[in-house]
Amino acid sequence: MKGYTEVRTQDELDAFDHVVDGFFDAVVKEAHVLNRSHVHREDSSIAMGDGFDVQLIIQTQNRDFEVEVVLRRVTTIHLDSDILDKPLMCSVIESGVWPPREIRIGALRGAELFYRTRPKSGSCATLGSELPSPQTIAAVRIQQGWRQCSGCRDAWEEPEHLSFSRCPSCGALTELVEPDAGPIA
Ligand SMILES: [Zn+2]
Repeated sequence: MKGYTEVRTQDELDAFDHVVDGFFDAVVKEAHVLNRSHVHREDSSIAMGDGFDVQLIIQTQNRDFEVEVVLRRVTTIHLDSDILDKPLMCSVIESGVWPPREIRIGALRGAELFYRTRPKSGSCATLGSELPSPQTIAAVRIQQGWRQCSGCRDAWEEPEHLSFSRCPSCGALTELVEPDAGPIA
């Protein structure tokens, strides 16, 4: 997950809390929830993933950027639109144990936390259709708006601003990387 910071230690959790200014005067602008389990199109069998992943856009009055948060292997999901009266809190369940059993952001509980800062988006909806994950294969940009899967070599058209995209041929979740030497042979 290029450009994202993973929170693994208490110091990193404190740094994250500083980046989001303790969620003071903050809103959850946008949320995307994805289940990593699914029913196969071909034979209707169930592919078990490792649970829900949640992607959030956090906007706060006291920063000149916004923060994108990815919480993986989420066990509890509860979003409250009225968070100005109930500021989000980030904490570790089972303090003193690293890696933590659970990371809590407000009433969200999960096992892995990633974040990055990004320019303010105001009222715009900005999250792409695929949720970021560290479990991807590379897709290489072969020309403007086109990328190629490093797994099956198929190419497809995708907007440039979306880093994560699912290959329409093999179904792999891909992360866009810059080309080294043109298309994959
Ligand atoms: Zn593919």
